[in-house]
Amino acid sequence: MQVYKTVTIAGSDSSGGAGIQADLKTFQELGVYGMSALTTIVAQDESWGHHVFPVEPDTVAAQLRTALEVIGADACKTGMLGSIRVIELVAQAIAASGIQTIVIDPVMICKGVDEELHPEVNECLREVLVPLATVVTPNLIEAAKLSGMAPLQSVEEMKEAARRIHRLGPSYVLVKGGGRLPGDNAIDLLYDGSSFDIFEVEKIRTTNTHGAGCSYSAAITAELAKGRSVPEAVATAKAFITEGIRHSFSLRSFVGPTNHSA
Ligand code: PLP
Repeated sequence: MQVYKTVTIAGSDSSGGAGIQADLKTFQELGVYGMSALTTIVAQDESWGHHVFPVEPDTVAAQLRTALEVIGADACKTGMLGSIRVIELVAQAIAASGIQTIVIDPVMICKGVDEELHPEVNECLREVLVPLATVVTPNLIEAAKLSGMAPLQSVEEMKEAARRIHRLGPSYVLVKGGGRLPGDNAIDLLYDGSSFDIFEVEKIRTTNTHGAGCSYSAAITAELAKGRSVPEAVATAKAFITEGIRHSFSLRSFVGPTNHSA
């Protein structure tokens, strides 16, 4: 039996909806073997404030060695990384391992939390990790930050952001309009440096989208590990995440002004 191996290099989300937990559940659902290297630990409080506890860089490096060198992976993805030191060592480990299929989810902000998680690391993410990507998967906010543009409001602006991000060096850029894009449809745009593919579904009106970005990029990683092309992997992942959102549930019984996401 052919076993496809994947690794997620990301944070733990104690609520179970995002981060490593979302990635490993997605890998399992899509029939690939999932490994992990934990970079941060996130705990949410009663008002959904996110408390982020970093993992020691040496501990991250040891886990990367297990997954990328001792065992070896067909594809990897990164999520929340937490510090410049960790971004740098992840980039070095990826380059040294020779792994060719790399999905970079440039986690800069969590849904439901308005402030950026680690503003100081965004520049490093852009300079050091994005250039290595087979696919980089920014949401609208992250795409604006990576491209140096004002908040993106339209498909035309998403296209311009994708062009600018592509110049950083990734093979493909997937700008996810998702639920944030004004209008009735959740539109994502894939750019390979010459042409655009549009992935479009009718929006599902729900706030239960915590972890959607993590699961989407994990699904792309799983499909790439199986040998699918990037456009095929994105199409399957988009269908997977759309069904996930359609069947979503509220994690908390409390519904109030701060309940953006769970
Ligand atoms: N990674 C971790 C560990 C998180 O805790 C979160 C949000 O809580 C995210 C990533 C981003 O999640 P989302 O896909 O909802 O933006």
